[in-house]
Amino acid sequence: MPPGRGGALVTAPTLLQAEHLSGYFQVGGGFFRPRKVLRAVDDVSLRVRRGETVGLVGESGCGKSTLGRLLLRLIEPTAGRVAFDGQDLTLLSAEELRRLRRRMQIIFQDPYSSLNPRMSVRDIVGEGLQIHRMVQGRAALEERVAELLQRVGLRPEHRERFPHEFSGGQRQRIGIARALAVQPEFIVCDEPTSALDVSIQAQIVNLLLDLQESLGLSFLLISHDLKVVEFMSHRVAVMYLGRIVETGPTAEVFGRRAHPYTRALFSALPVPDPARRSLRVLVEGDPPSPIDPPAGCAFHPRCPRAQRGRCDVETPRLLEVTGGSGHRVACHFPEE
Ligand code: SF4
Repeated sequence: MPPGRGGALVTAPTLLQAEHLSGYFQVGGGFFRPRKVLRAVDDVSLRVRRGETVGLVGESGCGKSTLGRLLLRLIEPTAGRVAFDGQDLTLLSAEELRRLRRRMQIIFQDPYSSLNPRMSVRDIVGEGLQIHRMVQGRAALEERVAELLQRVGLRPEHRERFPHEFSGGQRQRIGIARALAVQPEFIVCDEPTSALDVSIQAQIVNLLLDLQESLGLSFLLISHDLKVVEFMSHRVAVMYLGRIVETGPTAEVFGRRAHPYTRALFSALPVPDPARRSLRVLVEGDPPSPIDPPAGCAFHPRCPRAQRGRCDVETPRLLEVTGGSGHRVACHFPEE
């Protein structure tokens, strides 16, 4: 995949802003055993500008998908706020939220399980149009569904068929058409290519980029695929155990990799050039549990740069590493 966009859209207005957002869940419990708190997302602040893609990367279970759902208020936050186009989602009534939801959509990883197998493509794509009364009458619905299918590279006659009649890539296109139907401004793309063959992944990535450019969409791209994130994202945020540990313009974060965890993520990628193998940093072990995270920096038990007395005691704050670029890192001893 060719190099991506790199720079941030610094002058575009803010569409979505999360401040100190947390999502905690009670887990376990039983006879004589107290319930515990799982800190899936812990004090995260994030901004998405109009027309921008912000990539969210990290290992499975780091809280990426939970954060995506908190931003859409599909999950109630434990603390913090999310503002969409200046409106605080956490203060809206159910009816106000329902109306605003039209403008925020989600595309799922597994296009098959996210599509109702008993519904025709017409009903899947047209459902949102009817709920939000965006078309009047049967003919207008048919016309709009046909238009949406063509927009995502399917044929109008596909509307008569059911999800099982399509390939994985085509099903993802149906999921995208369903999201686009209600004319959203912001879409959470949750691992949109992970369930697809490599040859199909590039087609879906190009479709998303084309739609973003023509419709001015903003994306939060959740992915463990660093190549896809690098290609699509203007800015990127690296998550570890529910927190953002490094963020900034994609070219800068991926180029410098100031946080040892960002380096560790890259070390998991295959390196074709033997001369670069010495740069690989191997991270030991599985991530600790978000139920009982380590004190200080949560990465310290796995970090090759950890210093006892500081890293295991003091939680690092997310601070700017280079003047004015927005590149920030939460580490006491960032890499140069
Ligand atoms: Fe490693 Fe310490 Fe930085 Fe945490 S704060 S990433 S333990 S060097």
